[in-house]
Order: sequence, then structure tokens, then C-alpha cells
Amino acid sequence: MKIAIAGSGAMGSRFGYMLHQAGNQVTLIDLWPEHISTINTKGLSVESAGEQKFVRIPAAFPEDVHADFDLILLFTKAMQLSDMLKKIAHLLTENTAVLCLSNGIGNLENIQKVAPDIDLLVGTTLWTSELVGPGSVILNGSGYIEFQAIENVSHETVNKINDVLNAAGLNARPSNNVLLSIWKKACLNGVLNTLCTILDCKIMELNKSQYTSVLTKRIVAEFEAVAKAKDIPLTAELALKTIDASLAPDQAGDHYPSMHQDIASGRRTEIDYLNGAIARMGKELNIPTPTNTLITELIHAREDIAVKN
Ligand code: NAD
Repeated sequence: MKIAIAGSGAMGSRFGYMLHQAGNQVTLIDLWPEHISTINTKGLSVESAGEQKFVRIPAAFPEDVHADFDLILLFTKAMQLSDMLKKIAHLLTENTAVLCLSNGIGNLENIQKVAPDIDLLVGTTLWTSELVGPGSVILNGSGYIEFQAIENVSHETVNKINDVLNAAGLNARPSNNVLLSIWKKACLNGVLNTLCTILDCKIMELNKSQYTSVLTKRIVAEFEAVAKAKDIPLTAELALKTIDASLAPDQAGDHYPSMHQDIASGRRTEIDYLNGAIARMGKELNIPTPTNTLITELIHAREDIAVKN
């Protein structure tokens, strides 16, 4: 299959690499000049299980890519999606399906605003990846993908995409309620990422304080109230079960979550698409969301202090 990755950071590079290894014709699209030139001169450096290899996959700026793709995997951070979509508008032909696996609540609406007529699929993934420098990723562990066609997409196309993802070992499965998975993951990130960032601690350290579980319950209760008003079947019980599983001693990571790393490297976060989305929707729906509003403001304050430009 001819596949473009629009947003080839940590996750886009990982998926691009795995799809390339499975025999697909992959193009990495990105906006970071140093990343593109490093990949094109040295190859994409992929480190996995202690082994490093350099893989030749073409990388380019959006405006330099002119081809018909069967699939575009949209994989920027949530706040970069609209800009990337505008920059790849010339690649969005009637034969091209677009799959977005970025985290966040509201991505679907943002995509539909910029590109209302595309064959769109959205989903979520538990794969992880780390971008350690331009042109260089570290792949850890395993994961899976849940995705669902939103509009216009035939069963045949869904099955074809599912087969291609699975042939690359990405453990994909079509879902009938991907919005629940997206909200559940946003709630998990809205607890673990934000608390570790505000408290400057690793995920496993959250268990050390009883106050974190009080805060968690407040965050989750507001997610549940807004989800209910939006007809998303996310209950506090389900969200807390997912969070508890991630905080179990054998699961809780001895590492800082990605939002903490974003702040540490002077970059903005996806907060407006996590707790910020709950605060915004709560306001629109007249549902009180004081905890998520405060968490959003605290993360924005950390960004303002840390962000380089
Ligand atoms: P990323 O920050 O690695 O990449 C996103 C974009 O930012 C890319 O275009 C990348 O080139 C650019 N970028 C990264 N570092 C840069 C720098 N120093 N200078 C200039 N540009 C830079 O994002 P990601 O981790 O691939 O996340 C993409 C989406 O996937 C997000 O919605 C994220 O929440 C989600 N996600 C990430 C992981 C993970 O383990 N990384 C896991 C699951 C879901």
C-alpha cells in the first residue's frame, strides 16, 4: 500500500518504520527541517531491544510531496493537526483514506472543520515511542490500535487498512465505539500526565501520596459528567479501573510521562485536548468542572514558564 505519515515524530516514525518493514511504500512527511534532513542523509535511526539500525525511508516537507496515497496516517500532536491537514490538502484525493490516531478529545471535530469531505477514520493506540533527537527513535514494548470509520469509508477499505496494519504487526482492530476509547485514554492522560507534570514526579511516585487519589477522583467525576452529556458511555468506574491498572506496582512506570517531557524540553502540551476539553465543554454545557479548569490553568502556566518560543 502507498502510505504517507503526516507528522513523523515519535509515533509517526515508529508506525512508518513498521509499515515500511512490512513492504509498504512509505513516505514520512514532517515540518522539522533537521529531522527530515537527518532521515534523508543517514536514514531513520531505530533502536529496539538494545539494537540500532538505520532504515532508508524518504522524508519530506508537505509541499514537496506529490503523489497519490491509499492511506495517510495523521500523527501530529493534537494542537498541530489542523495546520498539518492544511499543508497536505493537495494530497487529500478521493482515493485517499485518512486515519488519525493522535490522542485528544476534539480531534475529530477539528479535522472535519478543515477537511469535511475526506474518507476519515479515527482511533487510539497503546503503542509507544520516543523521539530522542532528529531522525532517531527508540521503540519500546508492544501495543494495539482500535479504529473506526467516521464517514464515507467502505467496509472494503476498513478491512484493507486493518489487514495492512496487522501485516505490519501493529495489532489493529476495528471498533464500534472508538469515541469511548478516545475519551477513556484522554481521562487516563488527564490524570497521570497532568499530575506527574504539576507534581514533578514519575508515574510510580503518584502512589506515594493519598492526595493524588483524591485529585484523581475529582478529575474523573468531571470527565464522567461531561461524557454523559455528550452521550459518551465513559463512567467514573471504568476510568478509575483503567487508571488503577496503570498505577499497579508492576505497571506504574519508573519514568516521566510525555507531558512532563514536553515541558522539560520547552514544548507546549496537549492539555487543551485533555482536561482543557472537559473544562471548555463543561462551560458550554453548564456543568461545573473546577478541578479540570484548575489543572488546565496550571499546565498552561508551566508551559508559559518553560516554553522556549
Ligand atoms: P512528537 O512530539 O514526537 O511529534 C509530533 C510532531 O512534533 C512531529 O511533527 C515532530 O517532528 C515534531 N517535533 C518533535 N520534536 C520536535 C522538535 N524538537 N523540534 C521541532 N519539531 C519537533 O509526538 P508523538 O509522541 O509522536 O505524538 C503524536 C500523537 O500520538 C500525540 O497525540 C500523542 O499524544 C500520541 N501518542 C504518543 C505516544 C508516544 O509514546 N509518544 C503514545 C501514544 C499516543
